[in-house]
Amino acid sequence: MHEAIALLQQLVRIPSVSPHLDPATGQGEQAIAEFAAAWLNERGVESWLEAAAPGRPNVVGKVGSGSGPVLVLCGHLDTVQATGMTIDPFGGEIRDGRLYGRGAYDMKAGVAAIMTAAAELARTNTLKGTLLLALVSDEEYASVGAQDFVRRHQADGCLLAEPTDGAFVTGHRGFAWVDVTVQGRAAHGSRWDLGISANTMAGRLLTALDHHDLTVLRPRKHPLLGPASVHPAIVRGGVGLSTYAPECLLQLEWRILPGTTEADVLTWTNDLVQHAGITAAVTCTLFRPPMLCPAAARMRQATLEAIGQALPEQGAPFWMDAAFFDAAGIPTVVYGPTGEGAHAAVEWVDLASVIHCTEVYGRTAALFCS
Ligand SMILES: [Zn+2]
Repeated sequence: MHEAIALLQQLVRIPSVSPHLDPATGQGEQAIAEFAAAWLNERGVESWLEAAAPGRPNVVGKVGSGSGPVLVLCGHLDTVQATGMTIDPFGGEIRDGRLYGRGAYDMKAGVAAIMTAAAELARTNTLKGTLLLALVSDEEYASVGAQDFVRRHQADGCLLAEPTDGAFVTGHRGFAWVDVTVQGRAAHGSRWDLGISANTMAGRLLTALDHHDLTVLRPRKHPLLGPASVHPAIVRGGVGLSTYAPECLLQLEWRILPGTTEADVLTWTNDLVQHAGITAAVTCTLFRPPMLCPAAARMRQATLEAIGQALPEQGAPFWMDAAFFDAAGIPTVVYGPTGEGAHAAVEWVDLASVIHCTEVYGRTAALFCS
């Protein structure tokens, strides 16, 4: 069995479900982090744990110490919950060239591939720069691992090994969660002369949001990432059938393009509130930046050369940890294995793609760190 496949099977057999997503049985990353650090150290990759948060360690590994460029190969150790899976989530069963289990595809395959590539580079000892492995925690919830890593380490480029089914990804949109608390005036349900329904007022904003999404955002397409978008993910208002609703909470999600800041999102939302002619308090509860790898970045050329194909660049529809590296000034690309079932009932990864990625990651490091 290829070293990367044997390792992948071991990683899948160590559950590392996010404790935030499954509070009852989520194991977190401690056990898998200790295993990964030991596996790397046994193979000459100097490795240690860094506590990103209590009980939420990152594993950091290092190959080489020359004066050349520093490359990060990054993957996350946590997975989503295994609830509702129709296969053994932690069996690591291999069948017909696929390995099955929670995290097989998202993204223990990528983690196994970068660990195996690092072990091989440690054996050959030819890097002129430094390879850092960032095996981070908590990607599936709050990304404390990636944020902690970029606070502690600097680098010249990053390759994130998230599964892309062989696509060369150089950007994705960011997102912002915005709470809009719409005010009405409570009154007995019979008192139309006194009551103001916050739900009706919220409806005006919902109409304005829909109009904004369709007529302002949708036509402005980024060549790689498409349009920005907004939707009211959660609407909650009213206290009883015979009472004018005093308050209605709209929880909006904006998906944003490069160049958009948290302040922009707040301004846009407040403008829409004003145009709707309603009274509401607007707060941003979470902001995650977009990311775009600069066109001239060496990271792009090194990865494409390692892949050995003139792949077109692509944008990912969803958000990734890549944004924290990009925000720290580290040009980042994403390239990873093929499979199916991230967060779904049956998850598997194609083993040939894992071996291919192991080779690509090793070649990328050799080219970038020369
Ligand atoms: Zn992932």
